[in-house]
Amino acid sequence: MNDALTYPSDSDLRRLLHFEADSGAIWLGERRMLLLHTAALSALRQDLIRSVGKEHARRLLTRMGYACGLHDAGFARQIRGSQGLEDMFMVGPQLHMLEGAARVTPVNLKADIEAGEFEGQFRWDDSWEAHAHRMTYGVVDEPACWTLLGYASGYTSAFMGRLILFKEIRCAACGDDHCLIEGKPIDAWPDGEAHRHYFEDDSLLDTIDALSQQVEALKTSLVPSESGGMLIGQSAAFRGAHDLMQRAAGTQVTVLLTGETGVGKERFARALHAHSERASGPFVAVNCAALPAELIEAELFGVEKGAFTGAHNARAGRFERADGGTLFLDEVGDLPLPAQAKLLRVLQDGEIERLGGETGRRVNVRLVAATNVDLQGAVERGLFRRDLLYRLNVYPICIPPLRERAGDIEALARHLLSRFTALHHKRVAGFGDRALQALLHHDWPGNVRELENLIERGVILAPQGGFVEVEHLFPNQPAPSHDGLDPRGRLARRSTDEEQALCTRILEIGTPIGELETMVLNLAVERSGGNLSGAARLLGITRAQLAYRLKRHPLQEDV
Ligand SMILES: [Zn+2]
Repeated sequence: MNDALTYPSDSDLRRLLHFEADSGAIWLGERRMLLLHTAALSALRQDLIRSVGKEHARRLLTRMGYACGLHDAGFARQIRGSQGLEDMFMVGPQLHMLEGAARVTPVNLKADIEAGEFEGQFRWDDSWEAHAHRMTYGVVDEPACWTLLGYASGYTSAFMGRLILFKEIRCAACGDDHCLIEGKPIDAWPDGEAHRHYFEDDSLLDTIDALSQQVEALKTSLVPSESGGMLIGQSAAFRGAHDLMQRAAGTQVTVLLTGETGVGKERFARALHAHSERASGPFVAVNCAALPAELIEAELFGVEKGAFTGAHNARAGRFERADGGTLFLDEVGDLPLPAQAKLLRVLQDGEIERLGGETGRRVNVRLVAATNVDLQGAVERGLFRRDLLYRLNVYPICIPPLRERAGDIEALARHLLSRFTALHHKRVAGFGDRALQALLHHDWPGNVRELENLIERGVILAPQGGFVEVEHLFPNQPAPSHDGLDPRGRLARRSTDEEQALCTRILEIGTPIGELETMVLNLAVERSGGNLSGAARLLGITRAQLAYRLKRHPLQEDV
């Protein structure tokens, strides 16, 4: 069936096309179509190439074309089922033209559905895609009609019932005056397999996900150079915790690190790992509070392909990645109950089972868990499994909060100062005296992490070559001229000598403070002739504050 390849009339296909302006729909037979600007599609194509790279863009566009071809193949038998094979096949090229892809001229066609044989050559003139590609990128080395090729492959594959791969022998994007395509079954091409991935569903998100997990694993296995240095401290509370850690390092015991947020639990876990026989193995850290509940099991234990929607590939969990090393589970108190049950089984059996998997995998992992919540309390409230707590709490180490190791603050602060001056290429002369005092007497609710943040900010705000002063460390704190340090060294408003004398006198007289306040309020109101706004000004408060206080202490006639 060759020689003079000609098209039958396309009036049967044109009849399929309906513009229903009233309903806002365009129909090709029973399928809704869309009229798009090639300029818009061209811009999308360019965006794709820029954001996901040429290969992924090519795959996505090939798949889009493939889907179009697949749908159009449905018309071939429906419209020309009673005609010869060749006329039936020509529905594809003719529809492709009608849809505006290019002017398609058949050059050669041999098709035998029964035998699964196919060979075809077609010429494309004025391919919209070659034109769009050349407009953006100029003449290129490789053919660029990806959606068009996808269409040819999709249409022919559906028609033949097997994957037919079309390639461009020539392309107008490469400087030829037209494109020429050739199609054969994929295994008839010597390099066919290399093209198969253009048709396959391969989620870029999965690739990115896998890569970011690799990065995460690499990051967590890199011991930061300062981690040893940051375990700085000579206070008894700190030395106690440090000794416990060192003694546990040589064993395989599961360690539970407790302490307030920011005390440096991860640094302790890293130090434990570094001091252990597993030091050359991976250190993998997971923050249980940072992962959504529905993802946490997949993260920890891994997934088999197809375990749930979106699980395109099998993936190892953090347990498997920590094999031979240490797994650090931070904020373990935030693990949802189902994940707690699984974790318990892993600790009991030394085996993990991937989500959707059937068989257990042995893992050799040393577990270090950490929490800043009271796990015993969580057990009582039904939020944490008692049996899991027993398993984790074999060797608890409580890291003291910074305010209980005030003796370590200065050494830590100086260490951090040199670290951040190096990091930010800054020269500073050191801490101002008041700054150091303020550091020593701050409460440190955020512990070492807060100290780190504060000093980094101080280094950035301090003038080049100058001292880090209080206002660089605590820039949000108002620093009026009366500011000073109270007897405990906390930042406080400094009272004048006169005020001091008055307070001393009040204490000596022994009048209750409430009565004294009432008297002062009354005096102010009296002096301002009953004008509350004036009285408030005298007292240094607002009118509303005065009104509120007067309500609590009604004016007394006898003052
Ligand atoms: Zn082309």
